[in-house]
Amino acid sequence: MENQEPKSNFIREIIDADLASGKSEGRVHTRFPPEPNGYLHIGHAKSICLNSGLARDYKGKFNLRFDDTNPSKEEQEYVDSIVEDVKWLGGDFEDRLFFASDYFPQMYDWAMALVKKGKAYVCDQTPEEVRRSRGTPSEPGKDSPFRNRSIEENADLFERMKNGEFPDGSRVLRAKIDMAHPNLYLRDPVMYRILHAEHHRQGGKWCVYPMYDWAHGLEDSIEQITHSICTLEFENHRPLYDWFLNALETYHPRQIEFARLNLSNTVLSKRKLLELVRDNHVSGWDDPRMPTISGLRRRGYTSDSIRAFCAEIGVAKFNSIVDIWVLENSLRNELNKTATRVMAVLRPLKVVIDNYPQDQAEEMDLVNNPEDPAAGARKVPFCREIYVEQDDFKEVPPPKFFRLTPGREVRLRSAYIIKCVEAVKDAAGNVTEVRCTYDPATRGGTAPDGRKIKGTIHWVSARHGFAAPVRLYDALFTKRAPEDVEEGRDFKENLNPASLETINNAWCEPGLKNVPAASRFQFERLGYFFTDPRDSKPGAPVFNRTVTLKDTWARIEQKDPAAK
Ligand code: ATP
Ligand code: MG
Repeated sequence: MENQEPKSNFIREIIDADLASGKSEGRVHTRFPPEPNGYLHIGHAKSICLNSGLARDYKGKFNLRFDDTNPSKEEQEYVDSIVEDVKWLGGDFEDRLFFASDYFPQMYDWAMALVKKGKAYVCDQTPEEVRRSRGTPSEPGKDSPFRNRSIEENADLFERMKNGEFPDGSRVLRAKIDMAHPNLYLRDPVMYRILHAEHHRQGGKWCVYPMYDWAHGLEDSIEQITHSICTLEFENHRPLYDWFLNALETYHPRQIEFARLNLSNTVLSKRKLLELVRDNHVSGWDDPRMPTISGLRRRGYTSDSIRAFCAEIGVAKFNSIVDIWVLENSLRNELNKTATRVMAVLRPLKVVIDNYPQDQAEEMDLVNNPEDPAAGARKVPFCREIYVEQDDFKEVPPPKFFRLTPGREVRLRSAYIIKCVEAVKDAAGNVTEVRCTYDPATRGGTAPDGRKIKGTIHWVSARHGFAAPVRLYDALFTKRAPEDVEEGRDFKENLNPASLETINNAWCEPGLKNVPAASRFQFERLGYFFTDPRDSKPGAPVFNRTVTLKDTWARIEQKDPAAK
């Protein structure tokens, strides 16, 4: 996949033009700038793949930078998880891991430089007054009564703000631009606010904290970023990004906006994901139902499949929702080629083969991966009593049912053709076991007389298999766009109450007993499964279903749509 020719897109066209015109000495230097206030999600993966992919393809550099300018929300746990996730996705920042808070002294000096140029002033309006005097798109704002303070007074007040002499919220530093500017972001935006808070890296050293619009361009400039790629919401902020860097007459990266990823049936906002974690709707940030990188990893996604997904969806200038099956398909494509096929029965129903000798057992040969001849074959024990799926038996078969039903034959995968004789029921009328006979001439599953057997089902020996927990997942939200809620309603009302189903005693073929955690398999006819990295141990595996199968089984059993 790394060798794939990168798809062209509008960002690559801009970069090509910049390189052709000799901008930035022919360098390409990008960055991924997360705020450490949550775990990364699949939307961030799009940004990481885009930025690190550009650096790789143009033989440039890629930085990981924590935008940790907001002291109240940031935590070390988030920093650690973000570093792990970026590395796992293959975002190669080498030794360039930076923290915006390390630039606070330089940012302060630059702000003071603007004060001395008469381009910034200390304003004593309350936050409410600042908001009210900003105006609307159709109405100009009103100048602050503090707008014309002298440079000396501004410099003195700003320094004292920094020294912690004033309480939170009492003053701000604002850029002196134009209160009638058609773009509201340029109506004397706030650059610094007073905040006596503990910062995760700076402690109590700073009493003033920079606002995003002021800080972000400076961070890019300090790191000599050439192309500062962000999501479309920042398009209207770009004139301000440019204004600050022009006013400082310093190195000036180019901001480019692209459409953020929205994925169906989930939410991609750290704030909302945090709500799900806090309120215990999920077991944590890495719950396998979460769209977080750590959740997808624990579900069984590979980093290759996530990168393939990001390449597939590409980058565009308009917002849209990508269907979650596009993501699932990128994983299926990979696992179909790589995953070992095994047999497990999720909802066991006992089948007794009356004419099979009581003490006999045989080793059947099963192909490990029909897509990969090098994967070889394995031996799976077979005996008189086996388990099959409850679904694969119907006493009264619906039309086109080609599985177990009294009087008919079915193929046990790579074993024998068996004929169903009767169902045994308990007092309440529930089927407790099925009696069958087998045809000893059909070892391996083919009839020497060439008679047609339409159905093939999977099975596990009752005597040799073992029980294991299996977790089945469905979409986290029932609605395609769960955030679209009416006024006063909550997106959490759209949570899918059936997003997790735990099966305690699935019956598994014996070879699975000692598999290591974090291994991938295809359970024949049931989907791709992953041994949970946290809960699974050799000797006691726990399986997460990563994705269901789509068409793979349909090829084998085309005539029986119900068997998929
Ligand atoms: P959230 O809304 O989930 O909190 P954010 O934009 O506040 O996300 P940041 O930590 O500020 O999160 O984002 C880091 C980078 O990831 C930014 O450059 C941002 O543009 C990008 N990013 C965030 N969400 C998406 C998304 N859904 N699709 C693409 N890029 C995204
Ligand atoms: Mg943010």
